[in-house]
Amino acid sequence: MLQLSRLRSFLEQPRHIVITTHHKPDGDAMGSSLGLYNYLIQQGHHVTVITPTDYPDFLSWMPGNGDVLIYTDNVEKSVELVAAAELIFCLDFNTLSRINQFGEIVRASTAQKVMIDHHLEPEDFDDYRHWDINACATAQLVYDFIVNQLHRKELINKDVATCLYTGIMTDSASFKLPNTTAAVHRIVAELIDSGAVNWAIHDLVYSTMSEDRLRFTGYCISSKLEVLRDFNTSLIVVNKKELEHYNVETGDTEGIVNYGLGIEGIKLTAFIVERKDRVKLSLRSKGEFPANEICKKYFNGGGHRNAAGGESSASLEEVVAQFKSILPAYKKLLIQ
Ligand code: 5GP
Ligand code: MN
Repeated sequence: MLQLSRLRSFLEQPRHIVITTHHKPDGDAMGSSLGLYNYLIQQGHHVTVITPTDYPDFLSWMPGNGDVLIYTDNVEKSVELVAAAELIFCLDFNTLSRINQFGEIVRASTAQKVMIDHHLEPEDFDDYRHWDINACATAQLVYDFIVNQLHRKELINKDVATCLYTGIMTDSASFKLPNTTAAVHRIVAELIDSGAVNWAIHDLVYSTMSEDRLRFTGYCISSKLEVLRDFNTSLIVVNKKELEHYNVETGDTEGIVNYGLGIEGIKLTAFIVERKDRVKLSLRSKGEFPANEICKKYFNGGGHRNAAGGESSASLEEVVAQFKSILPAYKKLLIQ
């Protein structure tokens, strides 16, 4: 692994740079990518953010969004840009399988790769690494990279600050997860000083739902929530037909998983959705309960201790049965 500080002199000349982030990008994926993009373009670099898939409308307003390339819609152009790239930033993921088919293109590239990430167990594909599982968001690490590695705090302008604020806000669940330390609040204050309009960003991300999305959320809570008191666990399971009925679009299911954890005493919650070609699981937990262990062991996934995800090619019914069958082995942890 090379010294991150070496990038300082490398970035003194204009470079061809690609920034990429994980499948179905969330607020931190887009916020950290566009935050870095808005920083780099000020130095005359040729920068393109390439996402492996599309992402929701409530994340499509950030500065620089108009220049983002979605790989699945622009395969040829993406391949061209990677071939020309001298540097590829990989943000908010640490295994190339998280960027689907685009991962093999990145892997085969001779460009130097920089991983900036806060997930467990990174794969060894990078040349430079800024990795810290204690960071509340990749956007926090991008801030740290710009300020403490590149010594370019003065280039954190309104656009950079707006994107990084969005990443930290969304990944810390609006500044309430345990890793939202005093240091994070200090960074957030700096971002506001640099021009991020905090109340407007909250409004753009959280108060722009479609009517369908709000009704779907209500349906999940009132009709689909199951509570397993013996295991202090709750779950919401939705099938393809229900998604179609409510015209559910990319990003519309985000956040629904959290409601199940809002019940007093509940330690673990799952949101299980039947997608086109697979079943996707999102798990959330409280305290010491390792949601990521369940995702890794049984559902081909991973994540953080309190927020993890995975998937399965089994039927929805089978996945739900499997999830329930796992709980007795964790009963002690769940009922303590
Ligand atoms: P979400 O439930 O919001 O999709 O994801 C929660 C966390 O779990 C995120 O930090 C994400 O990186 C991780 N995660 C979600 N799905 C997967 C997956 O399929 N594989 C892995 N390794 N991590 C996942
Ligand atoms: Mn993140």
